[in-house]
Amino acid sequence: MSALRYVSTEIAEDGKHWFLHLKSSRGTEDVTCPFCNSPVHICGNYSMKLRDMPIYPGTRQDIEIAYHRYRCQSCARTFREEIPFRYPETRITERAATWISAFLRFNIPISTVQRITGVHWDTIKRIHKELMDEAIVSRQKELRKEGYKPKHLAVDEFAIHKGHRYATCVMDLDTGDVLWAGKGRTKAGFSIFFQEMDMDCLSEAKAVAMDMNASYNALVNEHMPWAEIVYDRYHMQAQFGKDVLGAVRLEEARKHNAAAKKLKEDGCPKAEIKEEKRLYSDVKRARWILLAGEGSLSREDGSALEKILNEHADLAACHAMKEEMSRLFDLRDKDAARKGWSEWFRGAKASGIPALVRFAESKEKRLDGLVAHASHPISTGKFEGFNNRIKVAKRIAYGYRDEDYFFSLIQFISIPSVRSQSPKKT
Ligand SMILES: [Zn+2]
Repeated sequence: MSALRYVSTEIAEDGKHWFLHLKSSRGTEDVTCPFCNSPVHICGNYSMKLRDMPIYPGTRQDIEIAYHRYRCQSCARTFREEIPFRYPETRITERAATWISAFLRFNIPISTVQRITGVHWDTIKRIHKELMDEAIVSRQKELRKEGYKPKHLAVDEFAIHKGHRYATCVMDLDTGDVLWAGKGRTKAGFSIFFQEMDMDCLSEAKAVAMDMNASYNALVNEHMPWAEIVYDRYHMQAQFGKDVLGAVRLEEARKHNAAAKKLKEDGCPKAEIKEEKRLYSDVKRARWILLAGEGSLSREDGSALEKILNEHADLAACHAMKEEMSRLFDLRDKDAARKGWSEWFRGAKASGIPALVRFAESKEKRLDGLVAHASHPISTGKFEGFNNRIKVAKRIAYGYRDEDYFFSLIQFISIPSVRSQSPKKT
């Protein structure tokens, strides 16, 4: 039974602020020292103000509770009387916390909840984190009960704060659950995943998709030698577009520009200079049509591409290599993939095109992970969609400076039942 007694209510003149006064009537009879169990005496009277859920909408309601401080008669330590209906470690009541979590469950942004309730930002965030952690734990329990063992995983990094700070995420590609999120994108950062994860749960993992530039592969090999590493085709293709097609295209453009200058200095006919300039601007503008997939170009762009490739042998070679790479990723037969990739690397290295040779030399060591794609055609592509959800979550949460909170948020929004009800856009 609560020892609180009602004392009085103050209501502001405009009726907007209610102030309830309560007083503890607890004596010393049923209180003992929490340290040594000895009898105590009262050594002081204090009060604490808690923000409450208002009885009337649009009003503010506070409760002031007068309580005691006790001193142990034996060990002389002092302690505070427990305050009922206080939400632990905050200055709000239990029911105010319930009220706030009801808003949060509807994905109302924290800033709005703050405006409605007038409760401190940190307190709302704390309630939000508890709510999310509860959901994460119950999801984990549910999965454990089902004997959950993920088969296909993906690990990738993403920027937390406009490219300054990074996080690493592990996702179950079949269920979409984010199993883990942690700080940084280094090997050391990712190694924490293997410390925190129940390894038995990972014992049936068949394959893990990742970008080959990250240092995740060594750890996966070490901790999950039974799983195959699959290098992500989208990262690979994007890098080829940038480091090979992009570099060769800029080099060709530079050559045309220099040639036009040279012709001008030598006093060559204007038509010749004009032709170099045309080639220069064609190549400059060709970025997108060079990267576009086969069959995705309009007839007009298609003929522009054909013209450029006819006029630039290196670009034509690299473009053909790009198309071939895309075909290799479509293979579903391991032997054919190994043969195809080996030929691809051989051709690339024999091309004499520096950017292409460099690319081939750096990727060839990862041949196994490229071939593995044929047996496990998985990718980190699911993260792209999830990244958009994270952006929305960042807006709802209004901030991500507190990383523990942010990582809870990431895991929370990946829970299937949460995923299906939360908004895609705001
Ligand atoms: Zn004591």
